[in-house]
Amino acid sequence: MKTVDKSTRLENAHYEIRGPILEEAMRMEAAGEKILKLNIGNPAAFGFDSPPAIREALAESLLRAQGYSQSKGITDAREAIADYCAYKGMKNVGVGDIFTGNGVSELILMAMQAFLEPGDEVLLPAPDYPLWTAAVSLNGGVPVHYRCDEQAGWFPDVADMRKKVTPRTRAIVIINPNNPTGVLYPREVLEDVAAVAREFDLTVFADEIYDRLLMDGQKHTAFAAVAPDLFVVSMNGLSKSHLATGFRSGWMCMCGEKAHAKGYIEGVNTLASMRLCSNVPAQHIIPLALADRDRPDPLYLPGGKVYERREAICKALEEVDGITAVRPNAAFYVFPKIDIKRFNTTDRDFCFGLLREKKILVVSGSGFNWEQPDHFRIVYLPEPDELRSAARGISQYLSGLETK
Ligand code: PLP
Repeated sequence: MKTVDKSTRLENAHYEIRGPILEEAMRMEAAGEKILKLNIGNPAAFGFDSPPAIREALAESLLRAQGYSQSKGITDAREAIADYCAYKGMKNVGVGDIFTGNGVSELILMAMQAFLEPGDEVLLPAPDYPLWTAAVSLNGGVPVHYRCDEQAGWFPDVADMRKKVTPRTRAIVIINPNNPTGVLYPREVLEDVAAVAREFDLTVFADEIYDRLLMDGQKHTAFAAVAPDLFVVSMNGLSKSHLATGFRSGWMCMCGEKAHAKGYIEGVNTLASMRLCSNVPAQHIIPLALADRDRPDPLYLPGGKVYERREAICKALEEVDGITAVRPNAAFYVFPKIDIKRFNTTDRDFCFGLLREKKILVVSGSGFNWEQPDHFRIVYLPEPDELRSAARGISQYLSGLETK
C-alpha cells in the first residue's frame, strides 16, 4: 500500500506545548511517575473553576442551543461583544463585524487562511504564541519574527520590526498581553507599532485574549483603540478571562478602517459559513461573561491566587543561580533565561533533562520561536509550595549540570 503521509503544508507547523516533551511526560506518567506539569495554560487542570454563574448559564443554555446558529454567531453574543469593544474604545465595530469561533485558535487559523497568498510575509513576535507562526506557514505565508526585547521588559523592538518590512510584508501580529512573556504593552508601544503599520500599509492582527488578566493596577489598551484609521483584526475570548478553556468560546472583530478590506472580510465570512457555526452553548454565556467588565478580577489582586503564585515563582526564581527572569504583570506565564554557556546546555536539553531527572515539565523557548536556545516558559498556576519546589528542582538540576 502507498504510505499515507502528512501534507507538506504541515512541514513548518509546530506546536511544542503539546509536542514531544509532553509525549515523554505522558509516557513517564503511564509508567507511574508523578510529573509537575508547568507546560500548558489550562487553569482547570490546576483546580481553577470558571465562575458558578457562567457554568449555570452554560447548562441552562443547552435547551436553547441545539441547532446551528448563524455562522457569525448569535446576535445576543455579538451585541455584547460590540458593546465590550465600544467600552474599550475600539472604533467602528458593529454586530456584523464580529465572528464567534471555537476559541481564538480556530479564528487564528481562519484569519490567516482567508488572508494569505503564497509567499506573503507576516511579522510575528519572537517569542510568540506558536499557533500564530504555524498558522502563517500552514497557509503558504512566510513567518518573519520581530524581536521582543528582554532588556526592555520584553516590549516589541519596533526598530527591528521596521527593519524586517519588505515589499512582501502584509501584516503585523501583536500579542498583548503576551504569551509566553506575561507582560502587558503600554499605549506608547502600540502607537509605535501603529506607525509602522501606517507607513507600510499593513493590516494588524491583535491577539488580546489576556486583556483582563492584569496585575499591579495595569490597564489594557486595545490596539484598535489607538489606530482607528487602520484595519485591525482583534481576537479575544472567554478561555482565560473566565477560566473556561474547554467551553471553546472566542471571537474576532473587524475594527477601524475597513472600506478597503471588504474582500478579506467576505473571505472570512465564506470560511465561517463553511464551518457552519461555532459551539452554540458557549456563545450563550458571552453576554453574562462580558457584563462584569468593570470589576477587576480578584485572582489578580494582592491576596488573589494568581497574584500570590506570581509572587511565589518570582521570589523562588530569584534564588536560582544561573536563571534570570523579567517579572511578568499579566496572564500566568514567566519566561526565564538560562545561562546556557555556563551550564553547557540548550533549552531543549534542559527541558528534557529537567523532566527526566526532576519530573518537572516546562516548554523550551525554541517552542515559542525564540531564536537563542536559552529560555523556557513556566505556567505558574500550581500551588505556591509546588512552584517553590519546582524552582528548587531547577536549581538542583542546574547544579548537577555544572558538576558533570
Ligand atoms: N492566543 C494566545 C496568545 C493564547 O495563549 C491562546 C491559548 O493559550 C490562544 C490564543 C488560544 O485560546 P483559545 O483557543 O482557548 O481561545
